[in-house]
Amino acid sequence: MTYTPNRREVILSATGAAALGLAGTLTFLPSALADTAREQGYHKYKIGDIECVSLYDGIWKKKHADNFIRNATLEQTKAALKAGGLSDEYIPIEFAQTFIKTGGKTVLIDAGTGGQLAPTAGMMMKHMAAAGLDGASVDTVLISHFHPDHIFGLMAKDTNAQVFPNAEIIVPETEYKFWTDPALIEKLPDNRKGLGKRIQATFPNWKNVTQVSGEKDVAPGIRSLPAFGHTPGHTAYHISSGDKQLIVAGDIANVPALFVVNPTWQAVFDSDPETATKNRIALFDRVIADGAVVAGYHFGFPNAGTVTKDGNGYVFAPFGA
Ligand SMILES: [Zn+2]
Repeated sequence: MTYTPNRREVILSATGAAALGLAGTLTFLPSALADTAREQGYHKYKIGDIECVSLYDGIWKKKHADNFIRNATLEQTKAALKAGGLSDEYIPIEFAQTFIKTGGKTVLIDAGTGGQLAPTAGMMMKHMAAAGLDGASVDTVLISHFHPDHIFGLMAKDTNAQVFPNAEIIVPETEYKFWTDPALIEKLPDNRKGLGKRIQATFPNWKNVTQVSGEKDVAPGIRSLPAFGHTPGHTAYHISSGDKQLIVAGDIANVPALFVVNPTWQAVFDSDPETATKNRIALFDRVIADGAVVAGYHFGFPNAGTVTKDGNGYVFAPFGA
C-alpha cells in the first residue's frame, strides 16, 4: 500500500498545527516538501489523531572505509549511493528525531547528537524551536539504543548535565543492562570504551530513567517494539491512532539507498549482524503488510514515508517524493 495524504488528512494536519499552537501555513505540499524540509529543519505529519514532527539534527559525511559494509565492496557501495541519487564521495549519514503529541503527552523519540558528534549536526533543539515546539515541555524521551547519535542529546557536552531533567527517559531494559554492566568496559573495543564510560557515569545516576522490556505501552498510542541486532537491546516504537500506524524504526536500517535497497548488507555498526538482518526484513515486511508509515533515524529528510518491496529488497519513499 502506498500512503498518500488525502485532503482530509492535510486538513487534519493543519488543525493539528493549530492544536500545537503553531502559527503560519503548514507545509504539506508533497512537491515542495523535499526541497524545503531540510532547510526549515522539521516536517509535520499526522498518524490518525496523533501529531508527529520529524526534526532534522544534521548530517555526518562519513569518509569511505573498505570495511564499512561487511558483505559489500566499496565499489558496490558507491554504485548503490549513485543509484539512489546521492553523491558517492562519502556516506551521507543524516540524523532525524521524531517528536509526538499524543493523549496530552509530549514525546521525543531519540535525543540527537547534542552537537557532540559531527560539526554539521546538532541542530535538533534549534529546529524544535523553529517548529514552535518547546524542549522544556517534553514529558517523555524514548530511546531506541545507546549509540552516541541517539543519546548524546540527553547530556551536556562538558558536564553531562541532563538536557531533559523533567522528562521520564524510557530505555530498553536489555540495552540498559548491557551498557551499565561494570564488567563491560574492558570487553568493549577501544573505540567504544569512552561511550561505555559515559553511559555508566550518567544513566545509573539519573532518577528519571525507566527501563522497559518486550512490547509495552510507553505513552498513549505508543508501544515499544523490540528489534534487536543493531545493538543488544535496539528497540523500535509503534504508534497507532484509529487504523493508522507509524513505526519509528530507529537504526533498523541505515542509509536507505544502501540498507533498505539491500537489506542483507551488514554495516559495521550492527553488533549482531545476522539478528539485525532478520529483524530488518521482518520489520519492513510488517510495515508493508500493515500499510504503516515508517520513520528511520538515518533515512535522510524528511525521514518518514512508505516502504515498498522491490525484488529482494525494498524502496523507501519519503513524504513528498
Ligand atoms: Zn544511529
